[in-house]
Amino acid sequence: MNIADLNEWVSKKNSEDNISKNKDIKDAEEIIIEKTSENAQNDAPMATYSHSRISSFEQCRLKFRYSYIDKVKTDVVRTIETYMGDLVHQTLEKLYKDLKFEKLNELKDLIEFYNNLWKENWEEGILIVKKEYNQENYCAMGERMIKDYYNHYKPFNQAKTIGLETTDYFELDKNHRIHVRIDRLSSPEEGVYEIHDYKTNSSMKTQEEADTDRQLAVYAMGVKKLYPDAKRVKLIWHMLAFDKEVISERTDEQLDELKISILNQINVIETATKYEPTKSGLCPYCEYQSLCPLWKHLFQIKDKPEKEFTKDDGVKMVEKYAEIKEKEKKLSKELEELSNNIKLYGEKIGAKTLFGKKSAITIWSKEVMKFPRKTDVERTKLIKALKGLNLYEKFLDIDNWELEKGYDNLSEIEKEVLKQIGRKEKLVRLYLRERK
Ligand code: SF4
Repeated sequence: MNIADLNEWVSKKNSEDNISKNKDIKDAEEIIIEKTSENAQNDAPMATYSHSRISSFEQCRLKFRYSYIDKVKTDVVRTIETYMGDLVHQTLEKLYKDLKFEKLNELKDLIEFYNNLWKENWEEGILIVKKEYNQENYCAMGERMIKDYYNHYKPFNQAKTIGLETTDYFELDKNHRIHVRIDRLSSPEEGVYEIHDYKTNSSMKTQEEADTDRQLAVYAMGVKKLYPDAKRVKLIWHMLAFDKEVISERTDEQLDELKISILNQINVIETATKYEPTKSGLCPYCEYQSLCPLWKHLFQIKDKPEKEFTKDDGVKMVEKYAEIKEKEKKLSKELEELSNNIKLYGEKIGAKTLFGKKSAITIWSKEVMKFPRKTDVERTKLIKALKGLNLYEKFLDIDNWELEKGYDNLSEIEKEVLKQIGRKEKLVRLYLRERK
């Protein structure tokens, strides 16, 4: 594999779903362990969590460690997807902010605002993982999302805006609080609240995903705490790339269960002692990739010129290992064919041992019953039969091989029952030894 191949391989690790998760990086920056005013006096720290922080732990413990425990400073990788998403968010925020002041922007003004933001904030280091697309493609994508949204919701009087890009906290228990950051919180009628989340990723959220989504459900918990008049809280994802909404809602019971599961997960986080890396489609976007044991070697070699790259000890060993493995694969195929031929030849001449110059091969064969393995669909039948014969403890908890070896010693009735599940197979083994 040359450097170009390696780079391409890294790029291919991208997945659309994961792009959206990068939006959470913004939220993650908000996460701190701090003291609230009440408990500051007795020195009891109140830990602040967010959906992003908990997700980060679930996605990759090592990344969580680098980020939240070791607080490793890196040059943050800013992807073009995050960049475009941020600017679309800022544009929609402007739209609703101005509406609060009775100013309805024309679409062309909003597009101009977005394009200006794009030009003013663009930096060379912004990462484009999907090499087949360029800056213009992404900028146009964001522009289309704003246009579609604008035309869909104009004149934007569906609900009263309560908050934009909110930053709120609510207590989960006396030691933990949760950070809530809502793109737009609105209320279409008395007692009904809507949490709007703008998604710019190019994979559509399914209803099932929405009904099991934790992030907005956590926000719903927050809204119910912060606004006691909230009888219903609707969760609305605006899938901007598709000009579609996905809507969901949670019952009070579901939110109570969610609270328990979050507290349990926080307990796992706070008692964790191991932080292993978890490889996923998020790795190409991870700012710690060059430190991570799963990738650091790639980072050490990827920018080396071909000549130096091939001299690297790690590269040489990987290449050698792959070469030997390939040979091993070929040889084991050859060996299998040869074993078969030896067996057939032995049968043909009626010999159980074949002799070479320095070696001899003894051909051992026995007809045995074969039974379904753990992954076979028929396995449940076998378990049922063995339980019925009171043989389950004796064989199945031990091993298939034990059952197959012990089959001949079973009673005729037992053999008859098990015969229906197993199949006869001839086992042949070749034992290579030195000729005496
Ligand atoms: S590169 Fe991947 S495995 Fe390594 S820390 Fe980052 S997310 Fe985890």
